[in-house]
Amino acid sequence: FIYLFNFKITVGKNGVPVAENFRLEQSSIADTIQAGQVRVKTLYLSVDPYMRCRMNEDTGSDYLKPWQLSEVADGGGVGIVEESKHDNFAKGDFVTSFTWPWQTVAILDGILLQKLVPQLVNGRLSYFLGAAGITGLTALLGIREKGHVAAGANQTMVVSGAAGACGSLAGQIGRLEGCSRVVGIAGTDEKCSILVQEMGFDAAINYKKGDVAKQLRELCPGGVDVYFDNVGGDISDTVISQMNQNSHIILCGQISQYNKDVPYPPPLPPDTEKIQKERNITRERFLVLNYMDKQEASVLQLCQWIQEGKLKVRETVVEGLANIGAAFQSMMNGGNIGKQIVSVSK
Ligand code: NAP
Repeated sequence: FIYLFNFKITVGKNGVPVAENFRLEQSSIADTIQAGQVRVKTLYLSVDPYMRCRMNEDTGSDYLKPWQLSEVADGGGVGIVEESKHDNFAKGDFVTSFTWPWQTVAILDGILLQKLVPQLVNGRLSYFLGAAGITGLTALLGIREKGHVAAGANQTMVVSGAAGACGSLAGQIGRLEGCSRVVGIAGTDEKCSILVQEMGFDAAINYKKGDVAKQLRELCPGGVDVYFDNVGGDISDTVISQMNQNSHIILCGQISQYNKDVPYPPPLPPDTEKIQKERNITRERFLVLNYMDKQEASVLQLCQWIQEGKLKVRETVVEGLANIGAAFQSMMNGGNIGKQIVSVSK
């Protein structure tokens, strides 16, 4: 079975993605593979916010190609090699790629694949799409490259989108790297309670309830020193208004703006921009793909923390390729806690 991308959405015109943007079709693949190729069975696929940009004719980024109408969609995936004509891979190897087609079985060029070591994640292979993959790297390298976190500096970190894949790791890593106080902002009471009880956040605010600015003032009495921003929009304006002089925004993502016709990163509203300039708050664009030279060492660090129980990992798993469109829609609407994964086959 293959999952095809169906209808294009144009940013800002009819912006909300739905499951019906995708359709499942049965198809066949070649009987034989060529030199340099491997045949893989798909185990797990990832759905991610950046895919929203791939639904537009113009993704707004030179590193992202638009999905083509009625062609198979692709993204992060993990699978097992069933047959190999590539020297680096043998039958039974576990492999991953950023450009894994949304198919149950596929023939891929070996050059696109990376071999995985399951022991690094205690056999939890889907972690290579989340905490031990791009998501974990984004949280760790975002903090290290843009956060200016220093152990012993008594810094307060705020994380938006805090119960999502990146956010839930970012808060924990902020603490591991030395922040003395970590406060999350998320969309349900359940998410907030998991952040505090499981993930070690000091406090969490449900942004859909009550006065966020007031709660933030109470929970961050010394102001905010580091802001890991996954969402942008009103939430970020509120956080930035409470940031300290010479503080730092980690501009990870702006999901509240992804269905709108705005450039990336979206400009701040004038009042917020004034605060940012007056207080000398850094807000540089961060893209994890620019730091892939640090991938290997960083993945090892993440895996070590996972094995030591210092990094708690949550996943929301949807079963079956047929449900990947629904999983994408759900993740974009807050249906996930931790990393949204699609389990394709066992
Ligand atoms: P995620 O946080 O697991 O899932 C998305 C979450 O966003 C939802 O669960 C929802 O949680 C929240 N959300 C959706 N609409 C919102 C809105 N209007 N306002 C506030 N929150 C909203 O996804 P992820 O994969 O970890 O990605 C998080 C962010 O990181 C995204 O912005 C993504 O683009 C970015 N990212 C950046 C890089 C990079 O290199 N810079 C790499 C990977 C990801 P609630 O229930 O809390 O609303």
